[in-house]
Amino acid sequence: MTSSNQSLLQRSLASVWHPCTQMKQHESLPLVPIRRGSGVWLEDMDGKRYLDGVSSWWVNLFGHNHPQIKAAIRAQLDELEHVILAGFTHEPVVQLSERLSALTGLGHSFYASDGASATEIALKMSFHYWRNRGQTSKTRFLSLQNGYHGETLGALSVTDVSLFKDTYAPLLRAGATLPSPDWRLAEPGETAEQYALRCADAAADYLAQHHAETAAIIVEPLIQCATGMAMYHPVYLQRLRALCDQYQLHLIADEIAVGFGRTGTMFAVEQAGIHPDFICLSKGITGGYLPLSVVQTTDDIYAAFYDDKVARGFLHSHSYTGNALSCSAALATLDIFDQQDVLAQNRRKADYLNQSLAALPDWQALPLKNLRNTGMIWAFEVETTHSDFQQRFYQAALQAGLLLRPVGNTVYFMPPYVITESEIDWMLQQTLSSLKASL
Ligand SMILES: *Cc1c(COP(=O)(O)O)cnc(C)c1O
Repeated sequence: MTSSNQSLLQRSLASVWHPCTQMKQHESLPLVPIRRGSGVWLEDMDGKRYLDGVSSWWVNLFGHNHPQIKAAIRAQLDELEHVILAGFTHEPVVQLSERLSALTGLGHSFYASDGASATEIALKMSFHYWRNRGQTSKTRFLSLQNGYHGETLGALSVTDVSLFKDTYAPLLRAGATLPSPDWRLAEPGETAEQYALRCADAAADYLAQHHAETAAIIVEPLIQCATGMAMYHPVYLQRLRALCDQYQLHLIADEIAVGFGRTGTMFAVEQAGIHPDFICLSKGITGGYLPLSVVQTTDDIYAAFYDDKVARGFLHSHSYTGNALSCSAALATLDIFDQQDVLAQNRRKADYLNQSLAALPDWQALPLKNLRNTGMIWAFEVETTHSDFQQRFYQAALQAGLLLRPVGNTVYFMPPYVITESEIDWMLQQTLSSLKASL
């Protein structure tokens, strides 16, 4: 590595506090200084390339340096970069709201800049809705074991990841968690669907007792991504929808990770044929170009805030709400979906990856289990005696030119949708060799 790169790494460690990191680990694990990206590839300062197998934390849907998204932002830049959204409006935010409504069937969109803020907004809106309707006892939120909804205090209260949560427990509002419908937790002989129904029964039992104080249940539809790509049967969502109707509580669909085609449909809830009361979107919404999140909700919920009294309104705000550049990136992302039949192309790519994986020599001999795929997400567990497998594999893959970040012993692929067949083959080959090197 050249000395100027060395100094960039030192400057980074001296000045940047990196996310989700015990910084001391960087004494032995070097940062990777990235200079540019193109398609699925990232290039470091020495010209070494890495295939971005996690879409840079699940945001770069169409890879890096996408001409269409870039052009849209540039065009918007010449018109209007930003304007306060309280009291003002602009074409990109209106268009985006209309197009998202047409996709989800939810009539109003409230904007923020990141996923955790979207969670906060949905929770606050749900609580405030019941209050405006005179149901002041509905102050509790229900969430799932192994769920993840972001890391601000409200979002962390409905997140179930002890490593992220336990330290802050005294600051958080305790809420109930229900069993995760993750099919890996099924009993031997029990199908994914049977297990999902059993979990729905547990939800029904809980709600029979506690519905009066419950405002909403928040779930990640079909896949609990952050805790290791736990996948479950859509019947669970159908049953939750019915329970929410029966007991008068909101269903909040956190599609921050799975929205925009990741599970094979534009939104994961479509596979259950249900409509949530709130949907939270972020991550892929701008194709990874600019921060943006949105909470969409029903016209009925919107109407409960519409009043002569100011305090009955939703007085929440973020400075960058509805940023025009972010909205233009989101509109370009939706254009790509419309123009290129992305979902059909992804189905072909997913079939190709599954066939290639099945045909890979040596793959069957590896100590892997629970190989699973939904849409453009794949995951499997690695049986190993190395307690530091996660680090070993991460480093072996980086050496091989592949960016993958296992969650514990779970290795997953969440590639950009622009990945080609030859890049898929290359990714699988490098995964195989990195597994062999780290087992
Ligand atoms: C990433 C994620 C969040 C939080 O989004 P941030 O932009 O990181 O705050 C919330 N929910 C889910 C399901 C996520 O995957």
